[in-house]
Amino acid sequence: MQHNLFSSDQYTFFCLSSGSCGNCYFIGNGDYGILIDVGIGVRTIRKRLQEHGYDFEHIRAILITHDHMDHIKSVGTFAHRHHIPIYATTEVHNAISTHRLIRYPIGTAKRIIQKEAPFQIEDFRFTAFDVPHDSTSGDNSGFYIEFGTHKMTLATDIGRLTEEMIPYLLKAHHLIIESNYDEDMLTNGNYPYHLKQRITSGYGHISNKQTAEFLAENYKSHLKNIWLCHLSSDNNTPELAYQTIEKHLTAKGVQMGKQLQLHVLERNKLSPIIKFE
Ligand SMILES: [Zn+2]
Ligand SMILES: [Zn+2]
Repeated sequence: MQHNLFSSDQYTFFCLSSGSCGNCYFIGNGDYGILIDVGIGVRTIRKRLQEHGYDFEHIRAILITHDHMDHIKSVGTFAHRHHIPIYATTEVHNAISTHRLIRYPIGTAKRIIQKEAPFQIEDFRFTAFDVPHDSTSGDNSGFYIEFGTHKMTLATDIGRLTEEMIPYLLKAHHLIIESNYDEDMLTNGNYPYHLKQRITSGYGHISNKQTAEFLAENYKSHLKNIWLCHLSSDNNTPELAYQTIEKHLTAKGVQMGKQLQLHVLERNKLSPIIKFE
């Protein structure tokens, strides 16, 4: 199938799903794309790719942030049935290979990456960086992505903001960052104590307020787009996440909608496609 929706020097980004219901991101151009995480069903991925004009034959690689099911659900199928290379650290590959719910082995599709060691896939240069989170392997990555003149950072499932991570967040022109929960909703909600502890432990997720304060304190004029991701269904709403981040940035004098576009990635929903020259 010829794919010529737009010129191949135009870069594209969209999210196929975000949240504990499953995560999947697409970065690509008019000819091909790369997926980051495949935590939703294969059929849903195909259907959502097709809505933006792509199919599996356009997918050149899959990168994995960590071994939680909402990030790896379809990884075996993509490796085994579709022979798409799977890029992850050794620890994450080991955890996938012993995961009882991953039906097919990665086999020859296995590609090992190392943190802080940039690697190139076609026109995209990726650097994995360390993220604190409570995955089975204990090994979690964010990704810094360079393409054309653009710099994009994906930081999801981050228990807290760390010194190692911050430089990659600050360099981004386009930032996908977690905004998991509203602190009042979590405190007053009916999650059991151990779950509340897990989320706020520094190895779970970060709140709207933590994300908002970080962004406001560290705003850089080269930052053009923010996508808030991995929103909790029980302890957050898209409106609350948006308003919390918007309020903090506006208070710092950032002209929202002009200098900076703020997007919220709704749970289990295909986002609009964004094109970059
Ligand atoms: Zn997750
Ligand atoms: Zn996770």
